[in-house]
Amino acid sequence: MYLLIALLIIIIGLGLVLAYEPWRQQYLTQRIFRLYRGRMPSLSPSEREALDAGTIWWEGQLFSGKPQWSTLLGYGRAALTTNESAFLNGEADTLCSLVDDWEITTQTYDLPEEAWEYIKAKGFLGLIIPTEFGGKAYSALAHSEIVRKLSTRNSALSVTVMVPNSLGPAELLLSYGTEDQKRHYLPRLARGVEIPAFALTSPWAGSDAGAIPDYGIICKGMWEGEEVVGMRVTWDKRYITLAPVCTLLGLAFRLYDPDGLLGEKEDLGITLALVPTTHEGVEIGRRHLPLDAMFMNGPTRGEDVFMPLHYIIGGVEMAGQGWRMLMECLAAGRSISLPASFCGMAALSVRAVGGYARVRTQFNTPISNFEGVQEVLARMGGNLYAMDAARSMTAHGLDLGEKPSVVSAIVKYHLTERGRAVVIDGMDIIGGKGVCLGPSNFLARAYQQLPVGITVEGANILTRSLMIFGQGAIRCHPYLLAEMRAVQEPDEARGMQAFDKAFWSHARHTTFNGLRALWHGLSGSVTAIIDTNVSPAMRPYFRRLTRYSAAFAITADAALLTLGGSLKFREHLSGRLGDMLSQLYIASAVLKRFEDEGRQPEDVALAQWAVEDALYRYEEALDGVLSNFPNKPLAVLLRIITLPLGRLAAPPSDLLNKKVAELITRPGPARDRLTAYCHLPTDDDDPLAAIEAALVAAGPVEAIEKKLRKFERSGKLDGNPMANVRDLADATYAAGGITTAEYEALQRYYALRDRVIAVDDFPGDLSSPEGRADVNRHPA
Ligand SMILES: Cc1cc2nc3c(=O)[nH]c(=O)nc-3n(C[C@H](O)[C@H](O)[C@H](O)COP(=O)(O)OP(=O)(O)OC[C@H]3O[C@@H](n4cnc5c(N)ncnc54)[C@H](O)[C@@H]3O)c2cc1C
Repeated sequence: MYLLIALLIIIIGLGLVLAYEPWRQQYLTQRIFRLYRGRMPSLSPSEREALDAGTIWWEGQLFSGKPQWSTLLGYGRAALTTNESAFLNGEADTLCSLVDDWEITTQTYDLPEEAWEYIKAKGFLGLIIPTEFGGKAYSALAHSEIVRKLSTRNSALSVTVMVPNSLGPAELLLSYGTEDQKRHYLPRLARGVEIPAFALTSPWAGSDAGAIPDYGIICKGMWEGEEVVGMRVTWDKRYITLAPVCTLLGLAFRLYDPDGLLGEKEDLGITLALVPTTHEGVEIGRRHLPLDAMFMNGPTRGEDVFMPLHYIIGGVEMAGQGWRMLMECLAAGRSISLPASFCGMAALSVRAVGGYARVRTQFNTPISNFEGVQEVLARMGGNLYAMDAARSMTAHGLDLGEKPSVVSAIVKYHLTERGRAVVIDGMDIIGGKGVCLGPSNFLARAYQQLPVGITVEGANILTRSLMIFGQGAIRCHPYLLAEMRAVQEPDEARGMQAFDKAFWSHARHTTFNGLRALWHGLSGSVTAIIDTNVSPAMRPYFRRLTRYSAAFAITADAALLTLGGSLKFREHLSGRLGDMLSQLYIASAVLKRFEDEGRQPEDVALAQWAVEDALYRYEEALDGVLSNFPNKPLAVLLRIITLPLGRLAAPPSDLLNKKVAELITRPGPARDRLTAYCHLPTDDDDPLAAIEAALVAAGPVEAIEKKLRKFERSGKLDGNPMANVRDLADATYAAGGITTAEYEALQRYYALRDRVIAVDDFPGDLSSPEGRADVNRHPA
């Protein structure tokens, strides 16, 4: 009894202190404020600029612990305009048909001239440039779909189109260029008169790009016959896409003004310039060979190259603003380019391998009937559904005016990782056919080139470990940034006021999220409010996501509280927290896709697979955080709050695997929706065209083959065991077991199937003229 009274007095006392602002500030906030000053992460200038870049979108809601589903569905459905659709189904397909992957990777080592000309003439390099400058002004979604389609054909094609339209001079000019620069360069870029490249990476600064040693010195020099103030720039860059053929080189370097010609500041900071490659001293032309992906890529160098100040993007006022400019533009470009190209490769794999698995038989049955193969096929289909959901939702976000930097890191990392998994799974299913190179191999080049996308635009390990949560926590958290700004405020009294407000709102937020996570965990989320109309089949998933969002919010808060500034060096934890946020993002994109596409009954299995997989991955990451949490008592408390009944999420069931595998191995609307906008060649010689034709023919043939087996079992073939199904067809037909029409249908199908399973062979001496000629041959 006394204990209860004492507890009550403490609670009332605490309540009074909290409610009465002067007491709260004097007895509580001030102490916490000082403690925080020592613990809050300190930010380098480049980190601060990265944090200030871009916007917060749906990921902010997920971080809040209380996502409003009406907001997500209220973003509307991403759709292409009539012009965009026509271009995607017209020019994009024509461009695909101009290239032959085998020819490019074994003979020409470059796109054919005809393709280059078509790219320039049809405006592929000006997709994001406004029409007033002669560009297409396409939406982010259209840009994404075009890159995705080109990737289903050839990587050199998609990279050549994607780079100028993402992080390149055009994007930088549009956002920061002077009017003169825009008027001069944008129409030329749109028409392909200029081929752009952008050079940031140096041999000494890859992931840590802010540390580039390339420099420019403000000085006087001669320009067009007159002495002017300009800059002498020295650079050594590598891995620069399109550099060997570019005419306009975007260049990042650190600019110094030691003689004070521009002002008092000596180190102006990272600066971006546009340099015509005809400018004296610019070295380009040599190439790297990134894993047989034959897009142009190579080094560029220059030593003490004098250039005028108007080469700086945005003019001299933008000198030193380069890092912020790059961060802003990267958020948009990174959201589109690699997510789209990996979705393209995954779509090609699902379409082709799904068909192949149905056509390829072993043990007298299509390999798609084996449960082991079905499990892998389902993983491919489910991953693709999730990938495309996240890709198109993110592109839609850009079209709504967002520049979501955290989301761009999520989709860059997770879509390239999932895309890699899909292609590797596909390779496993097609077996030896995937391993042997040749014009009939439709997957090996994609497989070979996977690491390129993993490495570029923020290498994946770094992106997962450092960027998603590292930046996401500070960017998306409803109060953390305000707290950090408050503790870093030079005026302590002002800082205290701001901190008081942010900190106690934060405390309320954390308490409520903890209570909600616990309650939803105990009640199976049945009371989680879904504030909009959703499909009954998906409602339980919306509820679980609400619970998991609250659990994520409290776990993130606990990690930030315990580790403070050191969290950014604890990449194990930060990576897993990033995974939790990412799976929430991907799962909500899947639910949105299912709703946006009109709740297609055939797609239920795909959506379920994708959400269940994401929830399972989420719990795995949460478990990893809790098991490795440095403060053990807090870890126990967190486990009680976030997983009160233990881990419940399971990987997609065997039944679900079977359903998804069936969807992607039979022609039908679900398969078509899943692999929409793949380039489907019509040329009979193309391996993908052969698979498509064989798959269509496979359905009717199934019944005839059953008839063959039945006839064989009936003993009417004199009991001869047939060596293969082809002999069986001949013998059955000869014995009158099938009609002529059925026999002919079988023969047509067998011819197609032979093409599907064909593997190329070459002369023993590949270096001989005959050997080379044979390698150079096109599919027979
Ligand atoms: C084909 C190709 C095209 C490219 N195109 C361009 C271009 O057009 N313009 C341009 O400027 N650049 C370009 N790049 C450069 C590309 O963006 C860099 O390669 C990338 O930044 C990685 O740098 P790096 O290869 O030097 O790896 P490193 O920086 O040496 O990294 C090595 C490994 O360490 C990991 N790592 C590094 N730091 C951390 C950390 N703090 N935490 C966890 N892991 C970490 C990375 O994830 C990576 O796995 C291109 C590169 C390639 C290969």
